[in-house]
Amino acid sequence: MLYLSTRGHADRKRFCEILLEGLAPDGGLYLPEQYPQVTAEQLSRWRGLSYAELAFEILSLYIDDIPADDLRAICRKTYTEEVFGTKEIVPLRKLEEGVYLQALSNGPTLAFKDMAMQLLGNLFEYELARRGAELNILGATSGDTGSAAEYAMRGKKGVRVFMTSPDGRMSPFQQAQMFSLQDENIHNIAITGVFDDCQDIVKAVSNDLGFKRKYRIGTVNSINWARLLAQVVYYFAGYFQATASNDKPVSFTVPSGNFGNVCAGHVARMMGLPIQTLVVATNENDVLDEFFRTGIYRVRGAADTHETSSPSMDISKASNFERFVFDLVGRDAAKLRKLFVEDLGLEGRFDLSADPAFKQAAERFGFQSSRSTHADRLATIRDTEKLFATLVDPHTADGLKAAREHLAPGVPMVVLETALPIKFAATIVEALGHEPDRPAKFEGIEALPRRVTVLPADVAQVKAFVAAHLS
Ligand SMILES: *Cc1c(COP(=O)(O)O)cnc(C)c1O
Repeated sequence: MLYLSTRGHADRKRFCEILLEGLAPDGGLYLPEQYPQVTAEQLSRWRGLSYAELAFEILSLYIDDIPADDLRAICRKTYTEEVFGTKEIVPLRKLEEGVYLQALSNGPTLAFKDMAMQLLGNLFEYELARRGAELNILGATSGDTGSAAEYAMRGKKGVRVFMTSPDGRMSPFQQAQMFSLQDENIHNIAITGVFDDCQDIVKAVSNDLGFKRKYRIGTVNSINWARLLAQVVYYFAGYFQATASNDKPVSFTVPSGNFGNVCAGHVARMMGLPIQTLVVATNENDVLDEFFRTGIYRVRGAADTHETSSPSMDISKASNFERFVFDLVGRDAAKLRKLFVEDLGLEGRFDLSADPAFKQAAERFGFQSSRSTHADRLATIRDTEKLFATLVDPHTADGLKAAREHLAPGVPMVVLETALPIKFAATIVEALGHEPDRPAKFEGIEALPRRVTVLPADVAQVKAFVAAHLS
């Protein structure tokens, strides 16, 4: 299996070459040259597998530069009941007739990002050991990504994490989750500023190629292909739980921000998993909903990007969207470049409304979308508790609201639960007047000693901090 760039660069790479990389050299995103097609015989056999074995089967189709026994061992070590709380790893639960919730948030940090990040931690450790190399991950987080990365990389050999976050702006629970880690290879940097300041610092450091090379700086952001690939697995696992046989279609609704999660659903569908519809659920930051309704993709400015009560979906552009558009335009790299380099670069938008390709988004690729507001989230959280005695977090509530707008008779609708309510307690209290339950292992974490350094929003000081903590 070889990987290409969406922007047409001539290089072809293997999985382990792109594992530790971000963008392709031409600024594009990596995709496999073609999507492996799953046969009826494979689907039947996979239905009976454990999650770790299923992960191994799917990953094997995309990874041919890690020996099979090693890859199987990595999958088994990653997807355990001990780490993810249940034997099923991603259990499905019926909410009402035809609507299901798939739990993806029972990993170490209680958000779906653990599903991919835990695997990434083990793949990184394996590949770095094989190369005799080290990597220093520099990241910016407003919550879920940073904690998932830290819990995945803690204690791993050859890897250090330097995670910037806006000082005092994450939820108290999220701060406690990250800052209570005492592992020597994990460094929390609280920046006196906002999330954009953190992102700007990471960009500035990454653009300093000399510094980047000298200090072996890398990232784990959502454009990483291995993260996306890991997420493909739970669409298969959800499908098998929602059906009794492999001739039945299933639809999925996905609370979306950077389009990573739902892009994995697109890949599963392209492999031949019988997915009928992929519903993209957005909050008030509705870049994606606008595209799927109108064919116009318009990147938002800072003033147009809202801080909402489903903060992990607060995006101004969707960094994985280019992967889907590449397929949508028939993998025509020149056309893709025109849209993402010329049109977006010059005008901050592109318009496919009059292009025959746009119709294909729904008709051939199965995409639909919906948008929610803060009031919708509160109402959905309340109704779900009242009617089904089930507490959902604000992101999952965006999904549930969207799902109900796209139900089709006889087709199970699976809503991906992307976080547990405890991570966003303030919104739960606003909706219900009481605190959400807290898993026992997180009892009292706010009182634990903290390991965090506060720095001003200053690139030079962050660089100096990194350089000083490399032994
Ligand atoms: C990251 C995140 C999302 C958005 O996922 P994308 O892959 O960026 O679309 C949704 N919900 C939660 C809780 C998240 O942490």
